[in-house]
Amino acid sequence: MSAIYKRILLKLSGEALMGDANYGIDRMVVDRIVVEIAAILELGVEIAIVVGGGNIFRGMKSAGDGMDRVTADYMGMLATTMNALALHDAMKRGGVVSRVQSALRIDQVVEPYIRGKALRYLEERKVVVFAAGTGNPFFTTDTAAALRGMEMSANIVLKATKVDGIYTSDPLTNPDAKRFQKLTFDEAIGKNLQVMDATALTLCRDQKLPINVFSIFKTGALRRVVMGEDEGTLVVA
Ligand code: UDP
Repeated sequence: MSAIYKRILLKLSGEALMGDANYGIDRMVVDRIVVEIAAILELGVEIAIVVGGGNIFRGMKSAGDGMDRVTADYMGMLATTMNALALHDAMKRGGVVSRVQSALRIDQVVEPYIRGKALRYLEERKVVVFAAGTGNPFFTTDTAAALRGMEMSANIVLKATKVDGIYTSDPLTNPDAKRFQKLTFDEAIGKNLQVMDATALTLCRDQKLPINVFSIFKTGALRRVVMGEDEGTLVVA
């Protein structure tokens, strides 16, 4: 059996790196994620990752608290870069070769985003971590995931969350909530299911780039998704 996707774009939110804490990066959680990544790398899958920053700083919230929105968003983008470095470091420890590219220039720390170079890394089976989102305020890392997914010609965007898919209602509070196996983009947008932000969903819909929403905390789930098994929720055009 082999993977059904040759190249994936994995979106890891800041929340995914935080574990049960309320803030920051949990090293053990990051190490576990690296094990999941290494397992699909062995299947020959090429992996690009977009990391979020919500575990460290969320621009919109700070703007709500009276901070200049653009400044807050730049702080959010820098937060994603810290997460990218933590992930890079954990991958190094776990024997996974990776490179970090940033949409904002901080050359002493990470190399800038260069599409051709990122594509070459992927072909060389290096994991590429994209930091600083799109590099623009007023966007999110979900949109960055859709954008980089398209630029990298990924076969799918895998959105890692705490819940193992999209449900009819919140499964944590409603025991009768049912998981959708498959949805169309129009259904996801129409039902306002909060899968990803609307900009990201619209971009993926227009480019016919499917999304799978799955749990990064469920052991082996990432592998099952790339093997095409019934895992998470698939959103298609
Ligand atoms: N951000 C931004 N432009 C981007 C991506 C991110 O301005 O292209 C900022 C924004 O302030 C956001 C923060 O970075 O709140 C962290 O990103 P996000 O909220 O998407 O992280 P996640 O929720 O995935 O942890």
